[in-house]
Amino acid sequence: MSDKTLFQKICDKEIPATLVHEDELCVAFRDISPQAPQHLLIIPRKAIPRIDRADETDAALLAHLLLTAAKVARDEGFAESGYRLVINNGPDGGETVPHLHVHLLGGRQLQWPPG
Ligand code: AMP
Repeated sequence: MSDKTLFQKICDKEIPATLVHEDELCVAFRDISPQAPQHLLIIPRKAIPRIDRADETDAALLAHLLLTAAKVARDEGFAESGYRLVINNGPDGGETVPHLHVHLLGGRQLQWPPG
């Protein structure tokens, strides 16, 4: 039985997703249950479970995820109107998939504080 996470399977194209970007380090795709008109996920190919499990050796990769999120927002045409980047960590953070991912949300006015 495979012990890959759901998101590793998306990286490896074993399960389908609507990809908008991929490179040697990361993949970006549309969230299956969008919470905004634009809701994308940017994930590393490396299976880091959550931000709390990243370390100094991941510094360049983490920077790449953020820069890729900004590029995706520009490429998809909503960078100028604004967007929010979110990383959920652990139970109180609302994490449901144990593979690090950056949520990119845009296309509407987002509220603060979040629920
Ligand atoms: P989190 O709750 O921060 O762990 O976020 C996990 C996100 O993954 C949620 O927004 C889900 O809607 C999304 N998700 C779960 N399964 C899939 C899938 N097969 N394709 C795309 N997004 C997914």
